[in-house]
Amino acid sequence: MSQIIDGKGIALKLRDVLSVEVEKLKREKGVAPKLCVILVGDDPASQLYVRNKEKGCIAAGIDSETLRFPFNIKENELISVVEELNSDKSVHGILVQLPLPVGVNEKKVLEKILPQKDVDGFHIENLGRLFRGEAPLFVPCTPKGVMELILSTGVDISGKEAVVVGRSNIVGKPMAILLLNAHATVTICHSRTKNLGDVVRRGDIVVAAVGKANIITGEMIKLGAIVIDVGMNRVGDRFCGDVDFDSVKGKASFVTPVPGGVGPMTIAMLLRNVVEGAKRTISG
Ligand code: NDP
Repeated sequence: MSQIIDGKGIALKLRDVLSVEVEKLKREKGVAPKLCVILVGDDPASQLYVRNKEKGCIAAGIDSETLRFPFNIKENELISVVEELNSDKSVHGILVQLPLPVGVNEKKVLEKILPQKDVDGFHIENLGRLFRGEAPLFVPCTPKGVMELILSTGVDISGKEAVVVGRSNIVGKPMAILLLNAHATVTICHSRTKNLGDVVRRGDIVVAAVGKANIITGEMIKLGAIVIDVGMNRVGDRFCGDVDFDSVKGKASFVTPVPGGVGPMTIAMLLRNVVEGAKRTISG
């Protein structure tokens, strides 16, 4: 029987530590960490994610401001907003909630965020440093949170077979690089991967970031593997992951639930990135 990795509990502890740090930063250095979120359009999922980020900031004592724009905002107007925030010294983190509407080039907008304020870690400079095995200023929040969850099991990643299912720029690819940098032997699967089950079965560590409910089943899992479920799929009126939890829990040594696994860690890592950004303005 698997042990359930309590992402929610781990995230709450991290947030408690952050609250103390934030309080100290304000009291001793006069610095109030601040996140600015740019939200374009009225996509319900994006609005929910932004609300959760705002709530997380408030709970940790981090200032947060959400700038809302209509879906028909022009790319150059959005870039001007980013540039204003870049030069605002009270702002330590800038986050553009994705996806942006069709017609706005996401990459162009993200590249305008100063790497020092890129708390999502999606700027080419931060991703490039990660790729080169150097410490980026910020690591993307979801993969960073997944690494914390894997480390919480006490298992040594070095030399392990890790299988990442999904190759998006925001989850799958940076996840694979983090595991590689931690000396795992990494395989990345995607929609053209043949015999997915055979490949996933090699994994001592499996990270599922696909966006398809229950695509990873127990028979694809090696006995004793660590299984991390990034997926968030709406099925009816509830969310479920990419991992078929019921069939996997008898095979894996550790498995994350959905909800209550990776999601809360993503927010905790975002808050940590904002605090790290604020601290750097003091030492730098
Ligand atoms: P994307 O849609 O950008 O990427 C999905 C990836 O899955 C692609 O690389 C795709 O392959 C691959 N894929 C699709 N079908 C299959 C298949 N049948 N077999 C193997 N691989 C397949 O999604 P994201 O990376 O943005 O997100 C993935 C999931 O994680 C979603 O459910 C999302 O909601 C969730 N998520 C959760 C977060 C959290 O905090 N909990 C944060 C971010 C995301 P190809 O490249 O070939 O198309």
